[in-house]
Amino acid sequence: MTLPDSAVVPDAAGPLVDAMAQLHKAAATLELPDGLHELLGSPRREMAVSIPLRRDDGSIAVYSGYRVQHNFTRGPAKGGLRYAPSVDLDEVRALAMWMTWKCALVDVPYGGAKGGVAIDPRTHSTAELERVTRRYTSEILPIIGPEVDIPAPDIGTDERTMAWIMDTYSVARGYTVTGIVTGKPLSLGGSQGRAMATSRGVAHIALLAMASRGIDPAHATAAVQGFGKVGYGAARFLAEAGVKVRAVSDVDGAVYAHDGLDIAHLAAHVERTGTVAGFDGAEAIDPASVLTLDVDVVVPAAVEGVLTEENAPKVQARIVVEGANGPTTGAADAILKERDVLVVPDILANAGGVVVSYFEWVQANQAYQWSEREVNDRLEERMARAWHDVVAHSGAHGMTYREAATVLAVERVVDAHRLRGLYP
Ligand code: GLU
Repeated sequence: MTLPDSAVVPDAAGPLVDAMAQLHKAAATLELPDGLHELLGSPRREMAVSIPLRRDDGSIAVYSGYRVQHNFTRGPAKGGLRYAPSVDLDEVRALAMWMTWKCALVDVPYGGAKGGVAIDPRTHSTAELERVTRRYTSEILPIIGPEVDIPAPDIGTDERTMAWIMDTYSVARGYTVTGIVTGKPLSLGGSQGRAMATSRGVAHIALLAMASRGIDPAHATAAVQGFGKVGYGAARFLAEAGVKVRAVSDVDGAVYAHDGLDIAHLAAHVERTGTVAGFDGAEAIDPASVLTLDVDVVVPAAVEGVLTEENAPKVQARIVVEGANGPTTGAADAILKERDVLVVPDILANAGGVVVSYFEWVQANQAYQWSEREVNDRLEERMARAWHDVVAHSGAHGMTYREAATVLAVERVVDAHRLRGLYP
């Protein structure tokens, strides 16, 4: 089967090429008709906006912003908002498509979306970020809503960003709309457990993967790329489960301790200095080496496309757990499969964030707050269910976990589509 001409087909390598190739494979396995394959490969709605910002020094700068709504078949579109200088439309399209599959795989009643602004939050003041966020929100306001498309944090954004979006949206509507975003501060209707949900899910899945390969956490070692929202918590929860986290990296450096890093002390160092670099009691290493260290489990928890044709042959870990979205390129995926390295795909491994986003939205709709215990228990239950679904499908059909996860997710979206029919 060839890719349909009118589906979005990028020419250069990148996350959208990988996302489209994954869909292509799933469509072939499911023997989807070309038209349906094309429908799933094309975002339902996209918006590109210019965001003018008055900088603190009085000058004006203009940034590109996007919101892509990939699919609405199973419910409102759902997905994060990313602030990074490298953001472009194809990246946002890929991330939106992955959100559709992720939500279907963990069976939350959402489609997929993603937003992005091509801005470096590290070189802007809080006041500037607030102005950019409010202007971006007002530009995309006609296409978002608690029953339409619900943003959440991603790279470069956080609960404060969500508070600004909620406020801007609510002011425009004339009343407070808590269900417009998830990942909000607790005092504005956020959920207990949301901040650590992605990491908790990553660690939970990593432990299930270790158990499936007969690895005892008490004797296991790990390396984590990224020490932000996902990487920090993943390192912490793995260390709490007895795993020696030998190395972590961030954009400024990487640190290594053979007997395991003290994650709490490292987090305090990062709190003070803004980076893992310079942490005492650990050796500085080349950040690029973190993915190929001699450890049992590697957790890429930063950005897309970091496991490539070049470094995949050097991966020594037996398990890769994708904390980030799209960290493994198609070429690297094939190499890791060949080398019998277990890759737990992003749409399964990092789905904890959107699962608790769903819980947050449910709580907002009910105007009722659940306990942290309740949230965490329900999260683990859903993650375990999705894990078992993927393992069973992979075993029954001789597929990799990524193939199995994508096929299961695509099939759920297709089933919903068939039941709804095509209008008109
Ligand atoms: N940005 C997160 C992700 O990639 C969370 C999305 C959400 O909670 O809507 O899964």
